[in-house]
Amino acid sequence: MNPLLHLTETQGAILDTARAFCAAEIAPFAAQWDRDAHFDPTLVGKLGELGFLGMMLPEAYDGLGLDAVTYLLALEEISAADASVGVLMSVHNSLPSQLILKFGTDAQKAEFLGPLARGEILGAFALSEPDAGSDAASMRAQAVRDGDGWILNGTKAWISAGGHAGVILAMARTDTPDARRGSKGIGAFILTPDLPGFKVGKKENKMGLRASETVQLVFDNMRVPGCRLLGDPAQGFAYALQTLEHGRLGIAAQALGIARAAFEHAAAYAAERQQFGRPIGEFQGIQFKLADMATRINAARSLIHATAAAKDRGLPVGEYASMCKLFATETAMWVTTQAIQVFGGYGYTTDYPVEKLFRDAKVTEIYEGTSEIQRIVIGRAALKGRG
Ligand SMILES: Cc1cc2nc3c(=O)[nH]c(=O)nc-3n(C[C@H](O)[C@H](O)[C@H](O)COP(=O)(O)OP(=O)(O)OC[C@H]3O[C@@H](n4cnc5c(N)ncnc54)[C@H](O)[C@@H]3O)c2cc1C
Repeated sequence: MNPLLHLTETQGAILDTARAFCAAEIAPFAAQWDRDAHFDPTLVGKLGELGFLGMMLPEAYDGLGLDAVTYLLALEEISAADASVGVLMSVHNSLPSQLILKFGTDAQKAEFLGPLARGEILGAFALSEPDAGSDAASMRAQAVRDGDGWILNGTKAWISAGGHAGVILAMARTDTPDARRGSKGIGAFILTPDLPGFKVGKKENKMGLRASETVQLVFDNMRVPGCRLLGDPAQGFAYALQTLEHGRLGIAAQALGIARAAFEHAAAYAAERQQFGRPIGEFQGIQFKLADMATRINAARSLIHATAAAKDRGLPVGEYASMCKLFATETAMWVTTQAIQVFGGYGYTTDYPVEKLFRDAKVTEIYEGTSEIQRIVIGRAALKGRG
């Protein structure tokens, strides 16, 4: 037991539930899902039954009403078993659910939060476009008023779970081409796949996270009822940025789970693998690797939990969430690289789990803001005397 993990009774019970679920429903299948790039939609209902798709939603909406620290503990555990399931859980809990909870009307909350919490529908988040990634405010998807509703046209790119989602929080320009207002001319819309003109486009064939479906979404003269606009039609980008603070903590926990799994595999292998007549773990060169892996993992978890605890106290944690994401994701990339080194040639094959962890780790440095973008956020805060 890690003495740095001081768990409440609830947290202990949630972790036990997560571990049992991973052992029965994820770990035995993760390698095959990865090989087949297969997304198993039955996971959504199963995670929903456990309450893992509404961890921070209020009990009034069938959520578990838990704090961020407890949610991130569960997310680390699920991600250690399979990061593809981790990203599903992270996006669903952090982005569409929180956006509707924070900025939705009572009617929008009543319609969507219960089904999201119970896992009856999966949530997705559509900000990026083929030509608007880090500079997401340069998006081109356009929403034009049409009576009491809107007509949306455009293409969203890289949307996790976009082809299976029952609700997609999508950003589109509400300003006009002759009066562009940058990030202040973007609205957020609650989309459902039954809207006429909604199409699922190209599916990406990815290096890692292969069991997480990543697709383009095409809006072709899609008519969206007025009641599906979230809040102020000009503030969607601001809402997305506020919620990304939540999302970045989730991706940090996902990366932490990947790193921890790689460390555990490497430590077990080092105790078993014999060279020069002894376990390789007896060589100082290997012990130093394990020592550095364990140190960085515990540092990442401590930073994540301290930041989440501050968030639970209601404090703004923007740049600290960026630090968590930056540090945990670079830790995951570094630890998985070291884990392959500990396994030697075997680590480079699909016979052992560390090459999958290495491939899965890479994307955590890219989505929900690349490492470069996190450094920009942290650097700007530092110049203002924060950090
Ligand atoms: C598997 C996967 C799942 C995803 N899921 C979603 C999703 O569900 N919803 C969604 O909306 N998006 C999603 N994304 C998109 C993701 O958020 C973007 O890929 C990411 O924001 C980077 O954008 P880009 O790929 O266009 O890279 P670019 O923005 O083109 O960046 C290319 C490189 O330039 C660097 N760069 C850019 N600007 C600067 C700068 N100012 N200073 C220094 N360096 C800079 C970047 O850091 C990067 O290294 C997903 C992406 C992937 C790969």
